Amino acid sequence: MQIAIDGPAASGKSTVAKILASKLKATYIDTGAMFRAVTLYLLKQEGLITRVELWDQNLADIEIQLEMTESGQKVFLNQEDVTEAIRSQEVSRQVSKVAANLKVREYLLKEQRRLAKDQDVVMDGRDIGTTVLPQANYKFFMIASSRVRAQRRFDELSKNGHSPISIEQIEKDIQARDEYDRNRKYAPLKKAEDAIEIDTSNMTIDEVVEKMLTFISRNA
Ligand code: C5P
Repeated sequence: MQIAIDGPAASGKSTVAKILASKLKATYIDTGAMFRAVTLYLLKQEGLITRVELWDQNLADIEIQLEMTESGQKVFLNQEDVTEAIRSQEVSRQVSKVAANLKVREYLLKEQRRLAKDQDVVMDGRDIGTTVLPQANYKFFMIASSRVRAQRRFDELSKNGHSPISIEQIEKDIQARDEYDRNRKYAPLKKAEDAIEIDTSNMTIDEVVEKMLTFISRNA
């Protein structure tokens, strides 16, 4: 079974996808984390982030692992735990540029399809329903107003003890990222024609999960 959940930044995809995966005994795969890990790698190598022509030859040196633990999903970049580091503002600001690169996308696409081959998955991202798993059994596209999304991200950052930036700034960053993701040439952020759109602006997480589970059981 394959479930694709796409949508703009901070629309609640990963929270919902995690719960759904656990209820359905499927593996949760956060593809955004994979793009973030590649971005972190490029940022860590002196000057590499601006040398797009060198990215391709560096991709073979990047190994990403996603691991579900009791305390949530952990992300490893070449065996190093980067779960926290990939959420930094610096990574968030650069990730869309990295994700627009065809070689990076091809590299991660292979990995994402491999992960979805032999197990039931709930995969979240921007292009899962359109490109990564076009044959997914169920496809959802989550949206919410940018203000609501900024507020949620602000609450999340505050809870995790990250240095507070204003909601206005978060909203601007989110909008800029969405704009970039929507307008890129390869596999842009887009609702698949056969995806169910869910506007979560006025819904709780439980309500969203319930709606998805109802849809899945009705169409099983
Ligand atoms: O989901 P998250 O906000 O962590 O994703 C970070 C970035 O990774 C997105 O803004 C987008 O540029 C890129 N991404 C993508 N395709 C995916 C998942 C994420 O291009 N399937």
